Amino acid sequence: MFTQSDAEFDRQHIWHPYTSMQDPLPCYPVVAAQGYLLQLADGRELVDGMSSWWAAIHGYNHPRLNQALQQQMTQMSHVMFGGFTHPSAVALCRKLVEMTPAALECVFLADSGSVSVEVSMKMALQYWLGRGETRQKFLTLKRGYHGDTFAAMSVCDPDNSMHSLWRGYLPEHVFAAAPECGFDDEWNAHDFDDFARLIKQHHQQLAAVILEPVVQGAGGMRFYHPRYLQRVREYCDRYGVLLIADEIATGFGRTGKLFACQHAGIEPDILCVGKALTGGTMTLAAALTTREVADTISRSPAGCFMHGPTFMGNPLACAVAVESLRMLQEGAWTAQVASIEHQLREQLLPLQAASQVKSVRVLGAIGVVETHQPVNMAALQQFFVSQGVWIRPFGRLIYLMPPYIIAPAALEKLIQAIGVALEHPSHFTS
Ligand SMILES: *Cc1c(COP(=O)(O)O)cnc(C)c1O
Repeated sequence: MFTQSDAEFDRQHIWHPYTSMQDPLPCYPVVAAQGYLLQLADGRELVDGMSSWWAAIHGYNHPRLNQALQQQMTQMSHVMFGGFTHPSAVALCRKLVEMTPAALECVFLADSGSVSVEVSMKMALQYWLGRGETRQKFLTLKRGYHGDTFAAMSVCDPDNSMHSLWRGYLPEHVFAAAPECGFDDEWNAHDFDDFARLIKQHHQQLAAVILEPVVQGAGGMRFYHPRYLQRVREYCDRYGVLLIADEIATGFGRTGKLFACQHAGIEPDILCVGKALTGGTMTLAAALTTREVADTISRSPAGCFMHGPTFMGNPLACAVAVESLRMLQEGAWTAQVASIEHQLREQLLPLQAASQVKSVRVLGAIGVVETHQPVNMAALQQFFVSQGVWIRPFGRLIYLMPPYIIAPAALEKLIQAIGVALEHPSHFTS
């Protein structure tokens, strides 16, 4: 049940992401979700093209994830992690250590992606204190996105995240030009020049490089060349700077590899994961480090890592994450993501011909249409819902990242809706 009065209350009293309280765009009430379908209060069903922001990789209301939650709930839903541990946390961290790049051995469980980014940056600061140095700058890439809390925001693209609003409050870090050489392009060594120059110039102040490997997500849905990432790793080694890989969006198969770092065959010193970690069921994230980073932090004046959230290692979240990782380890995702990629290449890439389109790109289970004009959110969102699909565009980007279990016919419906949408000038502002 969702009444008119519920809708009115929502509009008057509830903030939604990046939405005006005064003049909000409409929000659609969802009352149930199953597989790749979302059910609205009025009974309409929408094919999900978003996986609830990269998270619901196995689809919604999955019986195995539900079962894992229910099983954990009969034991305990929560217990503090200070002074206690529990079987689900141990099972989860065992899997994370096993599945992530080999050098990563120590796991810090965090409540959300942004918190894991805060944690990873604090780890880098404490690492240098452990080595008797104070290093407080980070080198990152323009067009990046790392979350909305303050430390995370300080390494997001300065224009997208409106650093001008926070001048004087936000720490100022070092930004290299965003990579221009695309994933499928021939490698152009000059693409790395700006990064090379900046790391050389600033390395004595740099605690770490932080970046999204291969796919820059919310900052522009850009896929860059794996060679760029290889060079980053080489230069971090050469200049003795830590490398933090933010795989909160890319982790767990989305790009066609389990982790996007694998496209470049590199390992970071610190890895952030989140979003799909619980298969989209609950909020949970983690920062993993090498033994060397963990040991050095423990030698810092504080004697330990200075962080410990109230809900750290929440048993329900850990239990459902274990089951989601188990499903990934069973391996069906590789064929699912490959077949989504194949279909996106066959059916989405041809939209390149539309006059409104600047470029179309596909990597793994991600398809992106970049338009010349910014989309008219109000008009386009409504159009997609009228077509029975859930696609949430922003800026000049209309993109798909469906649950891995989506059926080919449903994916075709998503792609067709984008094709039709591109034909209406009213969907774009000029
Ligand atoms: C979404 C995202 C975050 C932030 O995660 P939240 O759970 O929203 O706090 C950080 N980094 C990347 C790359 C993301 O895509």
